[in-house]
Amino acid sequence: MEKIERGNPDGGLRAVAPFPDDRLPHGDHRADGVVLLRREESPKSGRCMIFLRGIGVVWAAAPGGGGRFRGGIEPFTWGNFLLYQSPRSLYLKNVEIIEDFFSVRRSAPALMCAARWHKELSRRLMPGHEEDALISLFWGSMKNLSRNLSPLLLDIRFAWRWANLWGVAPSLDQCPECGSPLASADRDSIPASPAGFLCETCARSARPRRAGPPNAGAPASVTRDAFGIIRASSCDSAKNFVRGEAANRAIVSNSKPLEKELRETARWFYSFLS
Ligand SMILES: [Zn+2]
Repeated sequence: MEKIERGNPDGGLRAVAPFPDDRLPHGDHRADGVVLLRREESPKSGRCMIFLRGIGVVWAAAPGGGGRFRGGIEPFTWGNFLLYQSPRSLYLKNVEIIEDFFSVRRSAPALMCAARWHKELSRRLMPGHEEDALISLFWGSMKNLSRNLSPLLLDIRFAWRWANLWGVAPSLDQCPECGSPLASADRDSIPASPAGFLCETCARSARPRRAGPPNAGAPASVTRDAFGIIRASSCDSAKNFVRGEAANRAIVSNSKPLEKELRETARWFYSFLS
């Protein structure tokens, strides 16, 4: 979080301590971010849930509404937000647009994917908790979406990596029951349980040695093709993901069952965040 020191001609930015009661320290605050939700209370006022770098999510009043801030508080638009914390409320004072992601709005699959990310984040983030690694993942994913990369592959990558940031992602390397490597190369399918993907021994066992988290929607198994794509999409660096995207997109687009399987697996990954 950055707090602006008034009267300092060269910006005077300094870090301040996390705020204990979901309220920022009194004064002006400036940070990059994006509006996740907007509620119109009247034609000239509203409230926004804003996801900010260095701060996390906040609810801020937006006096003047969309007419005053124009595209700055539209969905998917990233900006540099200037906020003012009074003793009672947080107000939005100004937004300088950084990226409007207009190209994302022109493609229905990309639009739906971006809308899902905004919805999942607005449901799961807690006010007052900084999530800088997650906002970086979100920004990078939106950039890749705007570059016309596969929304399905980006969605799987986003869901798994977010779950991994929170330490709840199913392992793509080790069996959660016994810790042995998943060794997917010579298997036609990789079985799964609510705890994650299983090795052959644990999959054969009638009763897992320990219960996993209560995730509804765990697939019985995923095919080797799907698992390979999930691993590539989820684990690789952004650079490697972009390099392999065309090949993986081609494999997925030739198989409707594979596409469906990946879609369902992405939903399963989101369920780990509940
Ligand atoms: Zn095992």
